[in-house]
Amino acid sequence: MSEAPGSLTSLRSRNRLLVVETVQRRGRISRVGIARATGLSRTTVSSLVADLLAEGVLTEADGTGRRASPGGGRPATPLTLNPEGGGVLGVHLRHAGIRVLFADLSGGVLGERYHEIDVDHRPDDALAYVADAALDLVAAGGHDAGRVFGMGVAVSAPIRSRSHTLRTSSVLADWTGVDIAARLEARVGMPVHVGNDANLGALAEWTFGAGQGADDLIYVMLSDGVGAGLILGGELYEGATGSAGELGHIPVVDGGYVCRCGNRGCLETVVGLRALTSTFAHTRGPDTTIADVVALLAADDPGAQRVTADAGRMVGRALVGICAMLEPRRVVIGGEVAAVGRPLLEGVRDMLARQLPPPIGQEVTVTAGRLGDRAEALGAIALATQSTSAHLLTR
Ligand SMILES: [Zn+2]
Repeated sequence: MSEAPGSLTSLRSRNRLLVVETVQRRGRISRVGIARATGLSRTTVSSLVADLLAEGVLTEADGTGRRASPGGGRPATPLTLNPEGGGVLGVHLRHAGIRVLFADLSGGVLGERYHEIDVDHRPDDALAYVADAALDLVAAGGHDAGRVFGMGVAVSAPIRSRSHTLRTSSVLADWTGVDIAARLEARVGMPVHVGNDANLGALAEWTFGAGQGADDLIYVMLSDGVGAGLILGGELYEGATGSAGELGHIPVVDGGYVCRCGNRGCLETVVGLRALTSTFAHTRGPDTTIADVVALLAADDPGAQRVTADAGRMVGRALVGICAMLEPRRVVIGGEVAAVGRPLLEGVRDMLARQLPPPIGQEVTVTAGRLGDRAEALGAIALATQSTSAHLLTR
């Protein structure tokens, strides 16, 4: 049956797509939430959701993410994409290693690989590993490759999601001009979508983690690299060229250490994973890890408390101007360094409370990420999932 533009049938098709895309973007959302996010009436949403549940496109989840028993759903029960509808792959290309996740459409992780490698200087080896690990994960779980809809890739460099090639990048010089999506698509035979890792970390915490329900949030990634991702007005904001949120390269120390970007005294040279652990070199040796710092904090070590609180205040200092401009509802601190926990968060809160004007300073909450060092790969999964609408509605 053909659908005349403007007909009731085509209007219903468009609204179905809108509902599916909203569930994809939010990961888990109630009927009321869908109505609020789309502007559709609750009656229309209930009718569309009933059809999508019957067709197996959506399913009802309980608060822990497990599916509710059939027929047992309450009106506020969150909806997710039906996990049995297919899968997607998510990849995080970090500076020092590669994470590959295989997940169902509700974001449930089915398999994972991690491989330490010098990603910055070995793009060919890194892409070969990604393709092999991805195909291996799909095969290992006995999944039908034809029902894997796509792959998302998070990279530690400025790039807009859905673009393909890295622009000239002082941060990841050996990857400049590499068409990551095309090279991976040729190997894995599915659509590949690429985005900046901190941006995708923000997307993940907003979709699955500590940022759920906050449509204006800043995600801070404290890892071997330091970056930030922005969700503004319920949309990922990437800037004109994908470089928004380069928090790690804001100068915070005059005449400080030279950063890998070429400037001096960037935030990353002070609170990045290596910078933070190296402050313990004199007392604890050069091989101190973030797990060692966490153990020192648990033993009430005053040096560890001081270092992590100072790091938090330094992050807060870099965030003050950004919060004053954007008025986020929530700041989510993620990445491996966030494992140090409370003193870091309190350092950030202290600086924001002290330096922001009262209405903004009082309303912004600072919280730890819930997804740990998987956040960026899960964001890549969210990105890939967002591109599957047409597949889901035309099966
Ligand atoms: Zn820098």
